[in-house]
Amino acid sequence: MPIGKKQRKMMKETSMLSVFYHPDFLQYRIPAGVFDGEPSDYLDLQIDQPEGPERIRNTKGVLERTAVSGQLEWRVPHAASDEELSRFHTREYIERLKEFDLAGDYVSQSTYLPKGGLHTVRLSAGAAIGAARQVLAGTSRMAYAISRPPSHHAQPGEADGYCFINGVGLATLEAIREGCRRVAVIDWDVHHGNGTQVGFYGRDDVLTISLHMDHGAWGPTHVQTGDVDEIGEGRGEGYNINLPIPFGAGDYCYNRIMECCVVPAVTEFNPDFIVLANGQDANQFDPNGRQCVTMAGYYQLALQVRELARAHCGGRLVMTQEGGYNPTYAPYCAYSVVCALLAEEPEIADPISFYPEDAVRADRDVEALIARHPLF
Ligand SMILES: [Zn+2]
Repeated sequence: MPIGKKQRKMMKETSMLSVFYHPDFLQYRIPAGVFDGEPSDYLDLQIDQPEGPERIRNTKGVLERTAVSGQLEWRVPHAASDEELSRFHTREYIERLKEFDLAGDYVSQSTYLPKGGLHTVRLSAGAAIGAARQVLAGTSRMAYAISRPPSHHAQPGEADGYCFINGVGLATLEAIREGCRRVAVIDWDVHHGNGTQVGFYGRDDVLTISLHMDHGAWGPTHVQTGDVDEIGEGRGEGYNINLPIPFGAGDYCYNRIMECCVVPAVTEFNPDFIVLANGQDANQFDPNGRQCVTMAGYYQLALQVRELARAHCGGRLVMTQEGGYNPTYAPYCAYSVVCALLAEEPEIADPISFYPEDAVRADRDVEALIARHPLF
């Protein structure tokens, strides 16, 4: 999509982005198997679990080797304490994680904690908390926790979808502890941000918005459907917005949903802080997603979020790293997001040829979704 006059004006401005990263994120490995399941006797070759260190290593690499590197400040996260984790999670659950940490095992279906891996989980949570603190202190306008394991499926008392501790939630709570009155969470990971949804389901000071492929519930650790009727409860009614996007959707659909649903909802909510759950697994080559977003699509999505942050929060924005499981393409998409937030045009082109656009198959479906959503 071409860049408009308004966006070009934005591009004349620059700002620094703090990046929270720790080398231990590359040491944490999950045993190989059948994709994210246990090894199979039927196969000669098992494969690495998709939530591997390569995706983070390559994201760091592309950011370091391009011109945006001059606008990044690298920070080392701390390991989050029990007290910090307990702001979102139950004490019982934290103790349960410590038990799994002793030998390593599946904490839930497809969610394996390696022996001694809890330290990395704490660093990943610390990266999200640190990113929020950095922005709240005014040291940086924006901050990005490039960390793993990811976070947005972790519920107060449940691990799910490779996630153990909810960094999105911890960053959000940090903002509220520091005096923010309304925090908006925008989650464009290809999967439903069920953990964040559960954590804030009864609150009206946190608006949680999840754009995801229409995958529905997937078992005992993800009973939430991610459908439009999960809108929050009690005081929180109307403050949880699910946008299940048809399978096969790409740049057009995602940006249309952002424009028609996310932007007006956030605008009405008028947050003073925004947390972006930045997964790149809606990209066209992701092994875990069924969507077709490209580098260019992510760029446009990020411009819209940047504009929301500028309009409501003085430009303040915190990002957590969520999914994105093609270890060569997802980093380009992460780079594209960073370029948009820094008002830079990407200097490198999309490295992989473009799949057919989604216009024919999904346009009609996405219009139907907007039409039937009770909040729009
Ligand atoms: Zn995901």
